[in-house]
Amino acid sequence: MKKNEIYIKCGTDYKAMTKELLKECALEELICDRRQRVGIKPNLVSPTEASFGATTHPEVVAGILEYLKEKGFENLVMLEGSWVGDRTAEALEVCGYRELSDLYGVPFWDTQKDRAVSRDCAGMKLNLCESVEKIDFLINVPVLKGHCQTKITCALKNMKGLIPNSEKRRFHSLGLHKPIAHLNAAIRQDFIVVDNICGDLDFEDGGNPVVMNRILAGRDPVLVDAYVCHMMHYDVNEVPYVVLAQELGVGCADISKADIRVCGGDEGERIPKSRKVVELKDAVEEVESCSACYGYLIPALEMLKEEGLFDKLHTKICIGQGFRKKTGELGIGHCTKNFRCHLEGCPPTENQIYDFLREYILQQD
Ligand code: SF4
Repeated sequence: MKKNEIYIKCGTDYKAMTKELLKECALEELICDRRQRVGIKPNLVSPTEASFGATTHPEVVAGILEYLKEKGFENLVMLEGSWVGDRTAEALEVCGYRELSDLYGVPFWDTQKDRAVSRDCAGMKLNLCESVEKIDFLINVPVLKGHCQTKITCALKNMKGLIPNSEKRRFHSLGLHKPIAHLNAAIRQDFIVVDNICGDLDFEDGGNPVVMNRILAGRDPVLVDAYVCHMMHYDVNEVPYVVLAQELGVGCADISKADIRVCGGDEGERIPKSRKVVELKDAVEEVESCSACYGYLIPALEMLKEEGLFDKLHTKICIGQGFRKKTGELGIGHCTKNFRCHLEGCPPTENQIYDFLREYILQQD
């Protein structure tokens, strides 16, 4: 498989279609030695089943494991760390990865339990989970999703599961885009299988799955993400970390150079344009907020909108690490503890945010 190729396959038997896709890509030829340790990195951002639209379908990872085992690869491991606010150990159970681990005899490394190692990532010092350095060939299995801060999340951003929680918070204080690009200059993804089965097009933590029944495979994470921008109706320049990653030499962001191979002649449906977040974002003043904090706020606002309460909120909601030590009126999370009216938590949950804002709005009335 060439570096500029992206393979696409559609279907509903996710395990079988993953194996067929890998066969078409001749994945085994890309791994030079059967003794190499192959790491498989899904997205288990939170403890929710894949049908919710946030996490990687275990059937896709099962297809990868079966393919590799049938080709004689035995040194396999799965690895991931959930986002700040959730425990990987819980996600492992809920998302069906404990079962996968037992069924295939493949260990699962919880990177939330890893020691941090400081590394120079193309001129930016970042802390990585030590497991990363024990992997010889990394297969990234992200979910194609929308993201309320970065617009899309796929191959490049999925590497955030391989940094410690403290570093995830710091990434947000560094503006997300730059550190994501630099992180990818340090962690090489050798192969990518994108789960575009039913990812949420608005929220990283799911809740509004959009069924597409499609998987994609590629070797260049920048090209894969640039192509995903195109699929999700964004210009690549609207997602700065993709362009920055290209500038750092991680890959190519020019999709005119991509060679798209449709397996079985069915490319699937075009992804619908979805911009729920854009409307809700106007009510929020966000400065360096963590994914979980912001990711819980937006669906809480959507619930208020469905109830007809959102339009009655006339005060800006402040959220993020940029509000630490600052004062104001209405704040979400521990970072806004000096605000007149604030919700404690780091991060507070979606329901807590909903209850808090609902009460605030009703008191105003
Ligand atoms: S309260 Fe602050 S540090 Fe905690 S999750 Fe929210 S933004 Fe991040």
